[in-house]
Amino acid sequence: MERQERYICVIGASNWDMFTYCDRIPVIGETIKGTDFKVSFGGKAANQAVQASLLNTKSLGDDVFGNNTLNNFKIRGVSVEHVNIVPGVPSGCASITVDKEGSNNIIIVGGSNDLLGEQDVIEATKTIQNASYLLCQLEVNLKTTLKALSIAKESKCKTILNVSPVTNDTEMLMNMLGCVDILIVNEVELIKLSNDHQVDVENLESVHHGARELLRLHIMVSDVIVTLGAKGCVLVNRLSIDKYQHIKHRDNATMGKPVVDTTGAGDSFIGALAHYLTTSMLPLAESIERACNVAAICVTRYGTQTSYATFLELSPEDQ
Ligand code: ADP
Repeated sequence: MERQERYICVIGASNWDMFTYCDRIPVIGETIKGTDFKVSFGGKAANQAVQASLLNTKSLGDDVFGNNTLNNFKIRGVSVEHVNIVPGVPSGCASITVDKEGSNNIIIVGGSNDLLGEQDVIEATKTIQNASYLLCQLEVNLKTTLKALSIAKESKCKTILNVSPVTNDTEMLMNMLGCVDILIVNEVELIKLSNDHQVDVENLESVHHGARELLRLHIMVSDVIVTLGAKGCVLVNRLSIDKYQHIKHRDNATMGKPVVDTTGAGDSFIGALAHYLTTSMLPLAESIERACNVAAICVTRYGTQTSYATFLELSPEDQ
């Protein structure tokens, strides 16, 4: 029998990222002078697809967007089979402010991303079901995301959900998580989702406790990954719920370079993780370790997609 090609399908948003760099993030009502301004391609789904593609995975971006983004996807090796342009509708935009420590805050306006509907996803059913992994985030209509996850669940396609930006719609969240294999949250999302305001993200035991709560609440999820910025991440698997693995990047992963911009690090991590699971077919813990090394590179450079590592830049252990 002919071996089927393995690929990742990504459903979600693509944005214009507008970066303002400044010494510190202004408080409400304050006007300050910035140090630099840059525009680049972003959006969680687009970022994740591009990072996976830069590591040599063929991936599919599903979004409604403009010509420049289409070209960017093509240049970066992302298949655009199901990407549509909606005439007369503005693109999604993210206004990002980055301080001199590399920390940021972000405001997103959905634009055309908000028009990605269930019908668009239904039209991509075959593509989703033949994929090895489906990656979803919460930047587009939740019904659209739920549809994509449920289509994947009817096949052998494994699902990864990055619950970002986190939603208050608990019913929808329960439904989505009923179709998810691997759940990825950051520190803030863990606190919101676990309904446990006792989670202290400085304490790994407490992070483990929060992740275990999520596995108890959502019985279809097999693994919870909590990303912890520079501290790497914590992995908890349902079959060994009383244990956790703390995984972080190799000491020399940043090659001694300082952290300048952490924007999009989570997407770099997820895109790389999907690459190692799909293309390299590595076990989850090993894929996470390598994805931490890939994401550690992007925080030493400015921007989102512009900061992402390519396959040839990786150390041989990560290739
Ligand atoms: P998000 O961007 O979704 O908030 P995190 O900040 O937790 O996600 O970062 C995601 C991953 O990126 C981390 O698990 C880690 O592997 C990597 N990362 C983030 N910040 C740093 C950093 N300062 N140094 C090295 N790696 C980092």
